[in-house]
Amino acid sequence: MKALSIKQPWANAIMCGRKTLEIRTWSTDYRGPLLICASLRPHTNPEYIAPDALAANFLRQLPTHPIGAAIGVCNLIDCRPMTKADERLAMCQWNPPHGRQLYAFVLADVKRIEPYPIRGALGLFEAKVQDRPPHFWEMCKEVTKAMKERLEKQAALCVECGKRGRVVGDLCLDCAGR
Ligand SMILES: [Zn+2]
Repeated sequence: MKALSIKQPWANAIMCGRKTLEIRTWSTDYRGPLLICASLRPHTNPEYIAPDALAANFLRQLPTHPIGAAIGVCNLIDCRPMTKADERLAMCQWNPPHGRQLYAFVLADVKRIEPYPIRGALGLFEAKVQDRPPHFWEMCKEVTKAMKERLEKQAALCVECGKRGRVVGDLCLDCAGR
């Protein structure tokens, strides 16, 4: 299963639904189920990169445990360039390294799992999940179902030509001139 390591307390901020954007200096074309792992080392000073006092206060109050553990599953539904406007949902400042782009990983359908130890890695990594208990697979099933429903919702009938697919308003991309 595709997995991503995230430092605490941001990993917990994702699990409680407050943070829905994870920011990276690289992008991915992968979409679908994602295992959320809390990195072994928590961030020592989250206030320092929080975008505002409200976020800083929230992050300060979150537990910094568990660490070195898989803590949830969700769907990665988009990956796009980060903008200043994303700061609130990312709970971090828009501070692109000189001449480089930052990317927002859009997370949805977050489900908690019973935390279990996992060795994190850089980038999007492949986590072995064969030995997980039934509860884990129930959560995975819910996430997969939510992704399927989301994709079905995106596909609709074009009112102009009747073709089924991605629509903008009521028109398919061809009829909308995109
Ligand atoms: Zn059409």
